[in-house]
Amino acid sequence: MLNKIDNWIDQTLKNYSDQAVSCEKFCSQFNGFYQADFLSNSYYVAIDQLPKPDFPELRQAGFGSFIDMDLEGITYKNTYFIKKGYEGDIALHFHELVHVLQWKNLGAVPFIQRYMEEILRFGYQNAPLEKMAYDLQDHFSMKKEPLSVLNYVQNKI
Ligand SMILES: [Zn+2]
Repeated sequence: MLNKIDNWIDQTLKNYSDQAVSCEKFCSQFNGFYQADFLSNSYYVAIDQLPKPDFPELRQAGFGSFIDMDLEGITYKNTYFIKKGYEGDIALHFHELVHVLQWKNLGAVPFIQRYMEEILRFGYQNAPLEKMAYDLQDHFSMKKEPLSVLNYVQNKI
């Protein structure tokens, strides 16, 4: 199952690679939070409907409500998808980039496994990987002192 999701992600990223926009344009806004080389290697795609792996086995395993959830963004590896109309939502970009770092830090399959376990155990709102992203997003939105998100994720994950 994990490998099936991983393969689905790779295929999805391939399908949208020509629409992917580099995050290097956020360098000055995210100065002190995200490093330039990390932003240059992270991408987003603005899209009408966020792609999610809708496998019957996933619904059977209890992920139906997550699959149907109306999110504004979702991250797969070094790329996140945001709904069209949210391109200017800088806090949303910030949030999804936390997930890019989580993916990098854990590795793809371990990230998928942990994220799925957390969704089942805690629900989306209280999943620790989500809480970390929302906490950092709040820190950014409240214009507090910049902090290295890379170090934060490495220490807290
Ligand atoms: Zn999130």
